Amino acid sequence: MTLSPLTLYLAAPRGFCAGVDRAIKIVEMALEKWGAPVYVRHEIVHNRYVVEGLKARGAVFVEELEDCPDDRPVIFSAHGVPKAVPAEAARREMTFVDATCPLVSKVHIEAERHHAAGLQMVMIGHEGHPETLGTMGQLPEGEVLLVETVADVARLEPRDPGKLAYITQTTLSVDDTAAIVAALIARFPAIVGPAKEDICYATTNRQEAVKAIAPRIDALLVIGAPNSSNSRRLVEVGQAAGCRYAQLVQRAADIDWRALDGARAVGVTAGASAPEVLVDEVVQAFRDRHDLTVETVETAQERVEFKVPRILREPA
Ligand code: SF4
Repeated sequence: MTLSPLTLYLAAPRGFCAGVDRAIKIVEMALEKWGAPVYVRHEIVHNRYVVEGLKARGAVFVEELEDCPDDRPVIFSAHGVPKAVPAEAARREMTFVDATCPLVSKVHIEAERHHAAGLQMVMIGHEGHPETLGTMGQLPEGEVLLVETVADVARLEPRDPGKLAYITQTTLSVDDTAAIVAALIARFPAIVGPAKEDICYATTNRQEAVKAIAPRIDALLVIGAPNSSNSRRLVEVGQAAGCRYAQLVQRAADIDWRALDGARAVGVTAGASAPEVLVDEVVQAFRDRHDLTVETVETAQERVEFKVPRILREPA
C-alpha cells in the first residue's frame, strides 16, 4: 500500500516549561526523600499522563488540605495556592513543599505590593482556575476584582477608580489580554500595570510558535489536557491565526483521523504541561498512516530553569 505524503510541522518551543519541570521534580524528590505516600494538593500540573505516572510511584492527589493526614508531606501544585492553605498546613505542623511556579509567585508578590500601596486589584484570568483562585487568595476578600473579557471591564465597580492596579493569569492569550488591558486603560487611565508582563515566557513563546506555523498548515493539533489553560489558548491562537481545524488532543488515540482527511500539512504543538513522549506518540501515529516528513519550526530558544526548594536539597 502506498502511503499518502504529509508534512508535520512541529512548533518549537512546545511542551514542558521550567515551572512544570520543577513541579514534577519536586514530587519525585519528595518521594525519594520521605517515601510514599506523599500527598499533592490538586493535580501537580494539568496532565493526566504525568499525574498517573506520579500516582504509580506513591503520590496521592487530593483536592483539599483537609484530605491529607497531618503526618505525611504535602505538596502544593505549580498553579499556586491561596495564602490560607500554607497557613493551615503550618498550623497543623505538617511538612509541606510549595511547588508554585516562581513566575506565579512573582504575580502574588506584585498583588501584595499594590495592596500595601492602597490599590485595589483587577485580575485578568479565568474564573475557577486554580491559578486565579491562588492569586486572588493572596489578598483579603473583595480586594481582587476578576475580569475575563473586554465586556467585563465595563461592569467593574471599583472602590476608587483612581486607585487600581491590574495583574493577569500567566497562561492567557497574549492578544486577547492586550485587548482587555486596552479596555482597562481606556476606562481607568490611572490604572497601574505590571513592570513586566505577567503572561509568562513559556505561554508567549508557545503562542508565537503556533502563529509561525499557522500559515503553512491545514490543521493544528495541540497536545494537552482539557483543563490546561495554556493548551486551550494554543488552540484559540491557532484558530485566530487562520487554522480552519485546530484540535486539543490528550494523546494519539484522541486524533480524529477523519477530520484530517486530505490534509497535506499538519502542525503539532504541546501545552506547557504535556510531556514530549506524547508528542513522539503523535508523530509515530502519523508515520504509521503517511509517508511522513517532519519539520521543526523554532521561533525561540528557552534556557529557563528553576531551583527546587531548599527543603528537598537538604538530606533527610
Ligand atoms: S506556564 Fe509559565 S507560569 Fe505556568 S508553570 Fe509554566 S513557566 Fe510557570
